[in-house]
Amino acid sequence: MNIVIFGPPGAGKGTQSNIIVEKFNLHQLSTGELLRKEIQNKTKLGEEISSIIKGGNLVSDKIAGDLIEKYLSNKIYKNRLIFDGYPRNLIQAKNLDLLLKKYDQKIDIVLKLTVSLETIKKRILERKNLENRVDDDEQIAIKRFTNYENNIKPVIDFYKQSNLLKVVDGEASISKISGEISDLIESIKG
Ligand code: AMP
Repeated sequence: MNIVIFGPPGAGKGTQSNIIVEKFNLHQLSTGELLRKEIQNKTKLGEEISSIIKGGNLVSDKIAGDLIEKYLSNKIYKNRLIFDGYPRNLIQAKNLDLLLKKYDQKIDIVLKLTVSLETIKKRILERKNLENRVDDDEQIAIKRFTNYENNIKPVIDFYKQSNLLKVVDGEASISKISGEISDLIESIKG
């Protein structure tokens, strides 16, 4: 199965993806993590996107789309992907649909983690101490949250139409959220 998980920055997408990956033998495809690796490795792409990510903006749809196509086209990951951080807007959601068709795959469930801005601010500051991410600054977090809210509405409608969307309360504890997500995945596995 393939899963999409989205939510604002600091919603716990990465944490929950890690748990799901282990439990259901999937592969986590975090576009944010792949992009941060490019920066760490000082690749040409990394240099190009460094200031975009630091500023809390989105990289181009082409860059993000190329990253996910690498995984969708790889047979090792066929029907085993959890998309963490993609799609971020309607263009990306439509592109994902096209790529899934191209590689004869589909999305089975879309999980939306909901978290308030107040909680996000707290979590981002905690994470800054642990991970030292360049974009985990309060002002940039607010900007990322606002960008997320503005871009994601049409994506939500898009997945509502196909009946794939499940909303999960991201304010609960990590174990409660992962329990709820596991139940949802089990229910579609049948
Ligand atoms: P994340 O780790 O998902 O919070 O992503 C960190 C940053 O990477 C974002 O703020 C964007 O700058 C960039 N990024 C991650 N995924 C995407 C995407 N699908 N489209 C555009 N930019 C992305």
